[in-house]
Amino acid sequence: MRVLLAEDDPLLGDGLKTALQAEGYTVDWFKDGRHSLHAALGEAFDLVILDLGLPGLDGLEVLRALRDRKKDVPVLILTARDALDDRVKGLDLGADDYLTKPFDLDELAARLRSLIRRSHGRGVTLLEYEAIALDPATRSVKQGGREVELTLKEFKVLRYLLENLGKAVSRRRLEETVYGWDTEIGSNALEVHIHNLRKKLGQKLIKTVRGFGYRVG
Ligand code: CA
Repeated sequence: MRVLLAEDDPLLGDGLKTALQAEGYTVDWFKDGRHSLHAALGEAFDLVILDLGLPGLDGLEVLRALRDRKKDVPVLILTARDALDDRVKGLDLGADDYLTKPFDLDELAARLRSLIRRSHGRGVTLLEYEAIALDPATRSVKQGGREVELTLKEFKVLRYLLENLGKAVSRRRLEETVYGWDTEIGSNALEVHIHNLRKKLGQKLIKTVRGFGYRVG
């Protein structure tokens, strides 16, 4: 799951990024409205966490521009405690949920899981293929009912492939999903994760799509 975090407060942004990464999200953090909007329009994100008080372009304008251009990515807005007006405007403009500052990180994590479930429809959380069942909410993977230990990056790779079941996923897309934009990627890091996943889950699960990437199903 790839999250766009738009927050100009360095301490809060840093804390959020760390907490979200610990939950298994890949986080791209932007500190002003224009860059946030540009990224949200240009790239595929599963979620946007949008502070409303942003420099450059305020959060409500970012939200309006996203919805005007038919970007239907789930958006959770962060507002000041006394800013009822902003909350109402945000929801009217198409925000999916809001949290008022200060908020509890566990609550944020729960809200995000719920937004993801809603955006995937049906309220189903398990991603399943053959004997494999991946639960994004608990960050666990089972094979034939048996728990399989995966590293966080292996988990992200597998989750993305299962979310795109039957479709070839490019190496670049997978690397972005696992690392975001701001981390140096070792040239064979992705292959290492794929290798380890095959070792743990069987050689046949992840197919190599020559010259492009990988596929499950
Ligand atoms: Ca702010």
